[in-house]
Amino acid sequence: MDRRNTLGIDIGGSRIRAAVVSPEGSLLTRAEGVTPARASGDAVVEAVAQVVTQAMQGHAVGSLLGAGVGAPGPLDALQGLALSTPTIDGFRDFPLRDRIAGAIGLRTLLDHDGHAAAYGEWQFGAGRGHHNMVYVTVSTGIGGGAIVDGRLQRGRRGMAAHVGHMTLLPDGPVCNCGNPGCWEALAAGPALTAAARRAGFSDGEAVFAAARAGDPGAMAVAAAEARWLGIGIVSLLHVYSPDIVVLGGGVMNGLDVLHPAMSSEIAARAMPPFRDTRVVRASLLDNAGLIGAAALARDAFGGDAPDA
Ligand SMILES: [Zn+2]
Repeated sequence: MDRRNTLGIDIGGSRIRAAVVSPEGSLLTRAEGVTPARASGDAVVEAVAQVVTQAMQGHAVGSLLGAGVGAPGPLDALQGLALSTPTIDGFRDFPLRDRIAGAIGLRTLLDHDGHAAAYGEWQFGAGRGHHNMVYVTVSTGIGGGAIVDGRLQRGRRGMAAHVGHMTLLPDGPVCNCGNPGCWEALAAGPALTAAARRAGFSDGEAVFAAARAGDPGAMAVAAAEARWLGIGIVSLLHVYSPDIVVLGGGVMNGLDVLHPAMSSEIAARAMPPFRDTRVVRASLLDNAGLIGAAALARDAFGGDAPDA
């Protein structure tokens, strides 16, 4: 049994975070820095190495089992390649996994940030104990991951569960991926912000605050957002038949406001046996990706998982 800690690394479009994580999913250290998103892939790796050095203060390289990296897709998780990440210029067919491994001196695993966060929520958060779980994060984009029959679903090249790119409105607004009408283009943070501004609010948070106070304009914006979220979730229920749907990301700060209309949409559209699926908020919040990336590395490199 290998009880060593692992290193979790979360590369986002704006921030890089790293943490030493125990086999039980506790963050022992944590550090973060800025992602040089307009620079080369190697510049990003250099920034990762700096954040890792801070996170590893007091932990020798040999005391760690390995590193797990979560990064925005699309990426080839099996080959360790960042393929074409819209938010990071240097990630074009870039051998991210091996470059990071070389820079930090640890065995390294690469996976999508959505998969990593799903894994974290499944192992240690709101999805714990379930064999089938769909995780959806709604922030700048919509991402996610699915646990199917007790395993993280990977798919060809490890690219499964790009849930934000389901087309829900064929002639809708153009998504970051170039396709019109993706769920992400309709319901992620930027779409909510745009809808908020059209109704005279500064952003989604302002909409949620006003809706809590009963403002009809804010309630209408929130209801429209909740409707798109519900429509997307119904499709995920039908495809995956999860025990539970776990929702993370900044937009879910408003889940209390969104939940009633979202539930009505699900009740109206899902086939009856799917309607009682629980839809809950993620519990690890910002740390889901870090904790999940570390847990993926723990499991890939032969670490000892805690009893479920
Ligand atoms: Zn898309």
